[in-house]
Amino acid sequence: MGSITLKSVRKAFGEVEVIPGVDLEINEGEFVVFVGPSGCGKSTLLRLIAGLEDVTDGQIMIDGKNVTDASPAKRGLAMVFQSYALYPHMSVRKNIAFPLKMAKMPEAEREKRVQHAAGILNLTDYLDRRPGQLSGGQRQRVAIGRAIVREPSAFLFDEPLSNLDAALRVNMRVEISELHKKLATTMIYVTHDQVEAMTMADKIVVLRAGRIEQVGSPLELYRSPANRFVGGFIGSPN
Ligand code: ADP
Ligand code: MG
Repeated sequence: MGSITLKSVRKAFGEVEVIPGVDLEINEGEFVVFVGPSGCGKSTLLRLIAGLEDVTDGQIMIDGKNVTDASPAKRGLAMVFQSYALYPHMSVRKNIAFPLKMAKMPEAEREKRVQHAAGILNLTDYLDRRPGQLSGGQRQRVAIGRAIVREPSAFLFDEPLSNLDAALRVNMRVEISELHKKLATTMIYVTHDQVEAMTMADKIVVLRAGRIEQVGSPLELYRSPANRFVGGFIGSPN
């Protein structure tokens, strides 16, 4: 579960072509990082995969099934937003359970999943607090918990750490990598931060102006950048 294929995916907003055409293969269980400068189309590509935007052309397959026209709920993916997307008036428990409540899951099953996610994220003792009573790192974990309870076939992260301070960002990087090891679920992680890409990824996808410049492991990109742009961006000596 969790293989994702993009076939000639194109996206235009009106006259403006943001993604001229992307082909990409993401394997089950991989940690894939989309990296590139601001405005290159990382978020748009992620939103196309999530179904939050419609493709202008091309196809998206999840686990071999064509989901190009499927609603976000039908795709079985979970998008992790920045921690400030939490509901401040709700407890941690209710924040985490929120998507399940929306899906009308019975309370007993909801609570079971919340407990499971809280255990994974070390939030068990914080379920009755409100987000405002938590540290930045704990709040970010609550945002991740809200994705875990849905048991998605892949997690999609869009710069989840960009509003955290530098020290916390480093901690959260490690936590997300550990979470990936525990869950062994496909993760797509969007960032403009080369260090994040190099330290977290199994596979890096370097984007520039809506096109893929190179796909490879951190080591492959470092050793053999396809062009000057990748070399400059990844910081290799070539
Ligand atoms: P990134 O996440 O890499 O910073 P985005 O995917 O957010 O880049 O944006 C890529 C380009 O698409 C930008 O030029 C942006 O202005 C444009 N864009 C994104 N969303 C919309 C939209 N809803 N309508 C028009 N243009 C958009
Ligand atoms: Mg973005």
